[in-house]
Amino acid sequence: MDKFLDEQLERLDTQHIDFYLLHSLNHSTWDKLFHKDVFDFLNDAKKAGKIRYAGFSFHDDLALFKEIADAYDWDFCQIMYNYYDEHFQAGKEGLNYAARKNLAVVAMEPLRGGALVDGLPEDARKILQDAVTGRSEVDWAFRWLWKQADVSVVLSGMSTLEQVMENLELGDSFSDGLWTLEEGKVIDQVNQVIKKLQRVNCTDCGYCMPCPEGVNIPRNFSLCNDHHMLNDPSAKIRYYGLLDESARASNCVQCGLCVEKCPQQIPIPEEMEHVAALFAN
Ligand code: SF4
Ligand code: SF4
Repeated sequence: MDKFLDEQLERLDTQHIDFYLLHSLNHSTWDKLFHKDVFDFLNDAKKAGKIRYAGFSFHDDLALFKEIADAYDWDFCQIMYNYYDEHFQAGKEGLNYAARKNLAVVAMEPLRGGALVDGLPEDARKILQDAVTGRSEVDWAFRWLWKQADVSVVLSGMSTLEQVMENLELGDSFSDGLWTLEEGKVIDQVNQVIKKLQRVNCTDCGYCMPCPEGVNIPRNFSLCNDHHMLNDPSAKIRYYGLLDESARASNCVQCGLCVEKCPQQIPIPEEMEHVAALFAN
């Protein structure tokens, strides 16, 4: 870790980094870092003036998020958060939990990699357009985040100067912070339309787990639903980027042990076949 930090400073041609993230923590990466004196590393780096604020970005379940938030005196964290993912991963509960511990919270993926704009079902798009004439999908998504006091920063990926200008204008127009109950209902309707397109009615209860082969059944279904509901191209990226190889649907051997444990009576082996084919390279 010391070696990497020194290399990072050298490449950035700087003496210090203001906001330093342990990136993309999940069960697997956290387990490794936890056993490699990561806290000593952060303390020493701060003491040496190499980093000013220490944080972590996160992609896993709420229980692990709280465990990590409690494990160290972090300055900030970064979570996937938008109106569609209000209860996904750390979610709103994680956001509020971190804020109560005085962590600044960065909301990443405010547009879900663009899926809440380009992948929005037409019925959902129409609900937004009918509710407020002329307000864009981007505007709706940002406003939903900006109205939440516990969100410190909305991290939007911008690749052109026009996008930077558009976001600045949106930020200025929201300076009054107004968000009505009616606007909240509009977002609820949009989420209902999206949810109707889900393929697998998995509630993430986890009763089917553990799978003897290591397949993470609910995570695979969640990514599969993302693909079907929002035509989300990042679902495939997350399938390979965030799931260990053994946890992917392609590792299912069709043993059927999980089937009778599922209260939703999902034909898990068949659906695993579908997910594996969907995300096959
Ligand atoms: S059918 Fe597949 S997912 Fe279910 S327990 Fe067997 S290997 Fe795991
Ligand atoms: S038991 Fe069924 S509903 Fe629950 S996580 Fe497993 S697949 Fe999803």
